[in-house]
Order: sequence, then C-alpha cells, then structure tokens
Amino acid sequence: TLKGKTALITGSTSGIGLASAHILAEQGINLVLHGLMSDEEGASLAQEFSKQYRINAIFDNANLMDSDAISHFMENAIKAMGSIDILINNAGIQHTESVDTFPESKWNAIIAINLTAAFHTIQLALGGMKQNSWGRIINIASVHGLVASKNKVAYCAAKHGIIGLTKVVALECAEHGITANAICPGWVDTPLINDQITDIAREEKRSFEQAKYQLITAKQPLPEMMAPRQIGEFILFLCSDSARSITGSSLPMDGAWTAQ
Ligand code: NAD
Repeated sequence: TLKGKTALITGSTSGIGLASAHILAEQGINLVLHGLMSDEEGASLAQEFSKQYRINAIFDNANLMDSDAISHFMENAIKAMGSIDILINNAGIQHTESVDTFPESKWNAIIAINLTAAFHTIQLALGGMKQNSWGRIINIASVHGLVASKNKVAYCAAKHGIIGLTKVVALECAEHGITANAICPGWVDTPLINDQITDIAREEKRSFEQAKYQLITAKQPLPEMMAPRQIGEFILFLCSDSARSITGSSLPMDGAWTAQ
C-alpha cells in the first residue's frame, strides 16, 4: 500500500501537478506541494489538502531556476517528511518561437526548469530512497521528448534530455527497488498551452474554442485534450507494486500522436 508514503511534486500549484496531487492524496500519500505562489497561498493550499485527505502536506515555492533554492527546498522537505519516496518532476514552462530569434533567456529558463531542476531533485532524493530500498521517480516529459514540432527548440531539447536522464537513473537504481520513468503526454488541458491557443485565434481570426480544436487535431489523432487527472491516474499506477518492472521507459499517453 502507498498510504503513509511521501510524494514531492514540483509544479503542483496548477495543471497536471495539482490534479496528480489530488489523486495521490486520495490514497493517503503525504505531499510536498510546490510551485510559484506566495507563502500564504501555498500554506492554505497545503492546509486544504491536509484537512480534506487527512494527510501531512507542506508547501514550498523554491524557484527551480536557482540550484541553491532547490537544495534548500529538498533539505527542508526531507527534514519535514523523513524521506521522499515518490519524486515527480513535473514543473515546466513553454515558449514558442523560431530558432532564428529564440531568446537566449528563454532557452536558459526552459533548460533550467524543464531539465536541470530534475537532475538536482533526483540527486537529492536518491539517498533516502536507497536507504529504504524503495522509490519511484516519475518525470513528466512530453511527446516532445520523442518527436519534434516547429518553434519549440528549447522545449524539445529539454524534453528529449529528460528522457536520457530518466534512462540513466533507471539503470543506476534498478538494484535498489527504485524505478525511474518518463510520461510523454500529448495535449493536456492546462494553462501551459493557453498562449499557443490565443496565438492561433489571433492569427486565424478564430474563437478560442475553434483555435483549441485546430491546435489539438494538427498533430494528435484523438481529437480531444486529456484531463490533467488522467496523468495523475497513470502516475498512481507507476507507483504501484504491479509497476515495479516498468523502469527506464518513456511512456506516451498521447492519443496516437507518436504512432504516426
Ligand atoms: P501549468 O502551467 O499548469 O503548471 C506548471 C507548474 O510549474 C506550476 O505549478 C508553476 O508554478 C510551476 N513552475 C513554473 N515555473 C517554475 C519555476 N521557475 N520554479 C518553480 N515552479 C515553476 O503546466 P502543466 O501543463 O500542468 O505542465 C506540467 C508539466 O507537463 C510540464 O513539464 C509540461 O511541459 C508537461 N506537459 C504538458 C502538456 C500540456 O499539454 N499541458 C503536454 C505534455 C507535457
């Protein structure tokens, strides 16, 4: 049973991370919540989780662009919770622009948040997992870890990178009862993709809903966005004992996007 274990989910104040936090909390898993919101908002979010699910939940708003902030975050979390049993590297940002003019600052931010932060959190969580001979590391990559799209040079580089990172960690941890996997979602209905939809709506003079449908069906055969909770349910399965042999895998959940 997973009850009483602790999961740390980066970027769990919104979208996939927040929905996944609810799915894990429903199982009695204690939570380290994290994301860009104020201390006050974060404390009340953690309190709501504790009350609703009768779990231990804490919050941190470490900026993942700052490796010192990540160290403090992880140290505090481990001190408060004992160890991190389930590490979900989920926080991410996007910027779409042609490589010709792609700003260096956006490149650096995307590589730092979507890739390098996971290296740091994994490094800091592994000691406790090895001590317990049990751990689950789940990195939220993307179909863009497997295939490319125009105007996503930094995002694709970071997501392809995190798949490589996942594979190495899986090899090194296989004898320690620790699995490491990457989930590769297609379109998920979260705020992350709103800019891409509004760009299409503006350029093609479409409504938001029409632009959204156009964005989805341009690449994804299943003509609907996934709900963030679906990713959470997949995460929960990967945490189970039945999934102990799934490790080092990049697992598409993409409405047949990468089947083509
Ligand atoms: P979201 O924008 O709803 O949430 C992003 C989270 O990351 C928030 O909690 C935010 O506070 C946090 N975050 C952003 N920058 C941060 C920083 N500098 N420091 C700390 N935290 C930071 O996005 P989402 O769609 O839920 O994305 C979650 C993950 O799923 C991302 O890695 C994203 O690339 C991936 N993903 C999303 C989709 C999609 O269609 N939405 C598809 C495939 C993969």
